[in-house]
Amino acid sequence: MIELEGLTKRYGEKVAVNNLTFAVRPGIVTGFLGPNGAGKSTTMRMVLGLDHPTAGDVRIDGQHYDHLRDPLTYIGALLDAKAMHGGRSAFHHLLCLAQSNGIPKARVHEVLDTVGLTPVANKKAKGFSLGMGQRLGIAGALLGDPRILMFDEPVNGLDPEGIHWIRNLMKSLAAQGRTVFVSSHLMSEMALTADHLVVIGQGRLLADTSMADFIQQNSRSYVRIRSPQRERLLDVLHGAGITVVETGSGMLEVDGGKPEHIGELAAQHQIVLHELSPQQASLEEAFMQLTAESVEYHAHADTPHTPTPRPAPQWGGDWKRG
Ligand code: ADP
Ligand code: MG
Repeated sequence: MIELEGLTKRYGEKVAVNNLTFAVRPGIVTGFLGPNGAGKSTTMRMVLGLDHPTAGDVRIDGQHYDHLRDPLTYIGALLDAKAMHGGRSAFHHLLCLAQSNGIPKARVHEVLDTVGLTPVANKKAKGFSLGMGQRLGIAGALLGDPRILMFDEPVNGLDPEGIHWIRNLMKSLAAQGRTVFVSSHLMSEMALTADHLVVIGQGRLLADTSMADFIQQNSRSYVRIRSPQRERLLDVLHGAGITVVETGSGMLEVDGGKPEHIGELAAQHQIVLHELSPQQASLEEAFMQLTAESVEYHAHADTPHTPTPRPAPQWGGDWKRG
């Protein structure tokens, strides 16, 4: 278990982490979600004692990282920094880590096997692809067979096969009863991996909820309608007491409406429909709305609370700095 209490980090004027209080529990994957610059990496560095809190506290099974005996056997971590480039082979990198932490050599072979790097164990790590480097980092995190694992944006830059592998690994580690804490700036990624969700924006806690509750509370379902007789249709729908949202593109949207009901009303009044389709708002949209005010730099000024899903390119925009 990782417990944060009022955890705060300032860099000069900048409050990178602002009074975070939450717990990361064993047996599930906890997703740590927030746009770039939200404070995820800073929080994770403080968990490992690599950065000192300005205020508040973070404990691992009740203790500060610095006070853990053989810390690698308590908590293993893959941090954001893609630092793993040396003249050493994958095997020697892990062996050094093992030897300086009192971990037997046999364990090096085990973790190389787990991450699928056995065939390249004697190759120099500096020639590794990003995906292989991530696997080596994960092997290092697993080395001490820790009960707690922390991964900072582990799927960044990986190919689909690597992403699939990491997802399954995290789920199986949690299924073994371990605490798994993984950060991402992508809701789509968290939706597929996490059982629990901690969302932050500009260092502040925005949500601490089960994934299922988040989905239930944030999945807006609506019916999208397009008709050449738009004004008549609006009159009919309003007459039937149905609230309609008019979107900029000439579409009409009815929150929580049934397409059958709307289609039959239109037929009764001989109104032609060009589209009548049930829609589900994406979790991305819910995440963006939750964090909208806390995003440091917007890709472009979008009208707030537009009912239509925002275009995907925003995700590849400024949020992906760094
Ligand atoms: P995330 O990992 O969620 O993208 P970070 O924890 O890396 O966010 O950064 C949070 C904020 O703190 C950002 O505004 C970043 O610029 C700032 N920050 C992080 N590290 C430092 C540092 N060493 N010095 C000054 N500012 C920093
Ligand atoms: Mg980060």
